[in-house]
Amino acid sequence: MKTGQTHLFIPGPTNIPEPVRQAMNVPMQDMRAPDFGDLTLGLFADLKRVFRTETGQVFLFPGSGTGAWEAAITNTLNPGDKVLMARFGQFSHLWVEMAQRLGLDVEVVDVPWGAGCPVKEFSRRLGADKHGQIKAVFVTHNETATGVTSDVAGVRRALDECMHDALLFVDGVSSIASIDFRMDDWGVDLAVTGSQKGLMLPAGLGILAVSEKAMEASKAATMRRAYFEFSDMVNLNATGYFPYTPPTQLFHGLRRSLDRIFAEGLDNVIARHHRLAEGVRRGVQAWGLHLVAESPAFYSDTVSAIRVPRDVDAREVIRIGYERYNISFGTGLAQLAGKVFRIGHLGDLNEGMCLTALSLAELSLAAAGAKVEFGAGVAAAQDWYAENAPAARMNI
Ligand code: PLP
Repeated sequence: MKTGQTHLFIPGPTNIPEPVRQAMNVPMQDMRAPDFGDLTLGLFADLKRVFRTETGQVFLFPGSGTGAWEAAITNTLNPGDKVLMARFGQFSHLWVEMAQRLGLDVEVVDVPWGAGCPVKEFSRRLGADKHGQIKAVFVTHNETATGVTSDVAGVRRALDECMHDALLFVDGVSSIASIDFRMDDWGVDLAVTGSQKGLMLPAGLGILAVSEKAMEASKAATMRRAYFEFSDMVNLNATGYFPYTPPTQLFHGLRRSLDRIFAEGLDNVIARHHRLAEGVRRGVQAWGLHLVAESPAFYSDTVSAIRVPRDVDAREVIRIGYERYNISFGTGLAQLAGKVFRIGHLGDLNEGMCLTALSLAELSLAAAGAKVEFGAGVAAAQDWYAENAPAARMNI
């Protein structure tokens, strides 16, 4: 039997704040009632603030981030279209695989896992594409498998400098609502996220923000689609309704989580993620271990992927943490299996929680055979948190 609190430090699904959980505990309601829009119209409007778009249109699909990937592709592209993608972790890999399965002609740039989107190489290829064969460029903003954040604004600059017209797709599943993301400023055409990470909800919603340019493209796009058809959503969404049964409880939770984000302030949420993440990174450094992320420019403020010493199996670290200490760390995915464990630090989180993660990671690492000095990582993080105290706590 497990006693006490369970500690969830995977990079999604994340911890759900108690008021959000309670907000979802409501009776079922009529999704065609005259006042249903009172709930949903505000969600569309407020999600636009989270995506930082004024002109984009938000869609809420029952599904998850993967469904939103598919919705983005099938609504705006044509079979056989050439698209430019980079692969530098398991999630960027899976997006490439989906694009191939859907029949796109994918120009893939393979990058060592630990680096991010190769902006210079993208720029070179876009510059060489004199006849505009490339119809879309894809960027995984935060590669959750490696803890790497990429420079989306840099990709926009590359497109502009080459005067290239391709659509810009961004996977913001583990960045949006946690790491700075600016749809309009960065000229993003399709931004994808899910409900279970920065938005602090259960999985169940695939969320998309779509630019006017991408909406225009969707009118002529011939890729096959049915469930995810934008135009089915557009007219009904305008008055707050949906073409099929929406997950109403999740909408109530989303209302509450958005209220929390705006009460804290989106900029403060982003700053908090940075402050907490930096404490975790200081702890890792004090253990003498290394992140998968190659350099500070790539460090992710939502997840740290930590390489264990060569003679230690990261799966053991994770197993021991789970079985003995009631904590879940993220596993190493694909080529990182056994070499890496991940600490997810996003969503509803504070200093005490990060210190717990570091402290239990020390116990788990040591039990799995790593030489870590107890308290070293915790103390390094404490030093950082002491120097970088948060503003007064809010009661939200
Ligand atoms: N993209 C990224 C960066 C992710 O981290 C994930 C899931 O962890 C996905 C896409 C897939 O999202 P979902 O599991 O919600 O389908």
